[in-house]
Amino acid sequence: MSTGTLTIDLDALAANWRALDAINTGETAAVVKADAYGLGAARVARRLLREGARSFFVAIAEEGAALREIVGPESSIHVFSGHMPGDADMIADCNLVPMINSVDQMIRHAEALPGHGFGIQLDSGMNRLGMEPAEWQAVREIALAQGPRLIMSHLACADEPDHAMNARQLRSFHEMTEGLDIPRSLANTGAILLHRDYHFDLARPGIGVYGGAPFTDAQPVVTLDLPVIQCRDLEPGETVGYGNDFAATRPTRIATVAAGYADGILRAMGPRTQLYAEDTPCPIAGRISMDLIGVDVTDLGHDPASLRLLGPEQGIDVLAANAGTIGYEILTSLGARYSRRHIGA
Ligand SMILES: *Cc1c(COP(=O)(O)O)cnc(C)c1O
Repeated sequence: MSTGTLTIDLDALAANWRALDAINTGETAAVVKADAYGLGAARVARRLLREGARSFFVAIAEEGAALREIVGPESSIHVFSGHMPGDADMIADCNLVPMINSVDQMIRHAEALPGHGFGIQLDSGMNRLGMEPAEWQAVREIALAQGPRLIMSHLACADEPDHAMNARQLRSFHEMTEGLDIPRSLANTGAILLHRDYHFDLARPGIGVYGGAPFTDAQPVVTLDLPVIQCRDLEPGETVGYGNDFAATRPTRIATVAAGYADGILRAMGPRTQLYAEDTPCPIAGRISMDLIGVDVTDLGHDPASLRLLGPEQGIDVLAANAGTIGYEILTSLGARYSRRHIGA
């Protein structure tokens, strides 16, 4: 087999969800958009259901429809993109809760599915999705008359605890929702960790469940092992890979592993990233290719059968820092070619 093996530890994932649930003062949902950040929405949702999660969030109605098959009829499934043209049948058939984010969507929903449950999404300053204060003010009475099930907003800077934006958005959310007898939701992972003032009735963690920052106490969830296809000796002066980026300065042993940037191993991480043979770090030699990576295994003293890119010794946030990005992008870039193995199911 020449594909990498992506191992997803569902016990660690469950422990992360429980740890966030223990900090959170309200109900704890789970965000499983983008195939649960690339880790397999079906397996993730089934496990979190067993842990007690009863509310799920997805980005688009199609994800919600697939999730309904997994979680059964009892759980609530909320759709961040709200009610888009063409979504009515899916929303009705799969009993999804669209998080309505504009007057247009509200009209579309009321016309297509009168009486069908929905939520309201407010923009408290991020300027991304949701009704702004003035728009909300204008339609508030009409919306409330139809009995929304949840009112939510989203923070722009929750992973920066000292950022003044957090308090500003909290104040705006309070102003827009004060006195309403409807469950409220503001917190993602970062906001759960900020302060209980941000928790409200329902929190929506994603990245922390999957083992990423800003939940620094999270257990690592993913391990990625890449098979070695070939090993070779280099004389000093010989080079490796495109652009001759690596040149041997000593007799060198190079292992070539079967994965590359087409598998989400971003080229930018190359110069700072190592692969591990058990506990021994082996630096990447030369540029990351589409399907192959050269690794300097000289100091290892033997030819490994496989090398580990992601694991407890080097997690998603280390790779993210090496590539100048965030753990979210490392996870959601994980390639379709890996064989995915879920343990602790
Ligand atoms: C993705 C998302 C979340 C989850 O955020 P994390 O930072 O991954 O915890 C919560 N709410 C909204 C609106 C989102 O788009």
